Amino acid sequence: MSISLHEALLYSKGKSGVCHCELCPRNCVILPYAKHVETHRNIKHVETQNSRVETHCKASLHKENIGFCGTRVNIEGKLYAINYGRITSLAVDPSEKKPLYHFLPGGKLLSLGSFGCNLRCPNCHNWEISQTSSLIHSRPEVLDSLVENFSEISPAEVVSQAVTYDCSGIAYTYNEPTVFVEFALEVMKLAKKAKLKNVWVTNGFFSESAFERIAPLVDAFNVDLKSYDQHFYQSHCKASIVPIINNLKNIKKAGIHLEITTLLIPGLTDKKNILRGIAAFISRQLSPNVPWHLIGFYSPISWQMQDWESSNEKDLETAYKIGKEEGLRFVYASYSGQSEITGGVISKAANTYCPNCGELNIERLGYEVERFDENGTCFKCGQKLFILDKDL
Ligand code: SF4
Ligand SMILES: [Zn+2]
Repeated sequence: MSISLHEALLYSKGKSGVCHCELCPRNCVILPYAKHVETHRNIKHVETQNSRVETHCKASLHKENIGFCGTRVNIEGKLYAINYGRITSLAVDPSEKKPLYHFLPGGKLLSLGSFGCNLRCPNCHNWEISQTSSLIHSRPEVLDSLVENFSEISPAEVVSQAVTYDCSGIAYTYNEPTVFVEFALEVMKLAKKAKLKNVWVTNGFFSESAFERIAPLVDAFNVDLKSYDQHFYQSHCKASIVPIINNLKNIKKAGIHLEITTLLIPGLTDKKNILRGIAAFISRQLSPNVPWHLIGFYSPISWQMQDWESSNEKDLETAYKIGKEEGLRFVYASYSGQSEITGGVISKAANTYCPNCGELNIERLGYEVERFDENGTCFKCGQKLFILDKDL
């Protein structure tokens, strides 16, 4: 292995060099690869005698030495984050693109992503960077060449770019930020010093210890709540809904700004009872003021579901109505990417209306945002709209 390495956070050391990762609820048990080096040396001693250690380490790396997310490797009893500072995407995005509609509306966020994910959703729209985990895990020999392709950047450079591009904050997004927590924490600390906000766009599948580390530095979360069905999470995402529900409650308890996103996959996550379950959970166990974003599934850009049906406007409309019926005060609906919403209830489902008098307070056309509210309250009746701006 010849890539640069950074020791991982949140793991414990077990017997015989085994590492127990405690970053997410998967709790991977990762074996040290030194043992494989020994085996390799013993078997092919003559052949490897003059080789660099890095070379035969690489040759003998097995999936048992790598966490499920493909970002953590156990080398001789120490766990390393191989994605530290390795950025696959860096762009200035509007808050609305995260999506966050009640946090810095119309504001700019420097958005960055690395690679890897701790879930395996076949519907993933960002699979080129998230599902490197699947590739690395199943074919460890590609690790070096794949990782070396991603450019390296320092935390200070990220913050300096955010300032240069006049952003109000930095978003950890595109792939699951939990699996690049070491780098994100360093950036977040510097961002705070530069008076920038930190936004965490996540699948919510992180450990309580991870939450304790990130919570003091995060100003807003957008959490993907994909379903309200444990079976779906298990069979489709290879995960459990339980820690995600707990994390959502903890975010709310900690008083951190929260918005929730649900992707409507036809026949899987758009069932009425499931949507009602999600909406009722948000409304009754979190708050009716938590914004709920409904996103239409667009199968051609998915990882393994290109032949699946895409969402249509009717699906979005039904889900939108369910959200309202369950008492949510801010429900939004849009398509992921390509399609434009042209008519019906959904044509206005990106706007923020006052939940008290019904007046339009924030109008959104694509990513164009026009605000009529008065410092986060309704311009007509003074109702609080639960909006956080830069200086709040
Ligand atoms: S999936 Fe990754 S982050 Fe989660 S426990 Fe395994 S190695 Fe750790
Ligand atoms: Zn009003």
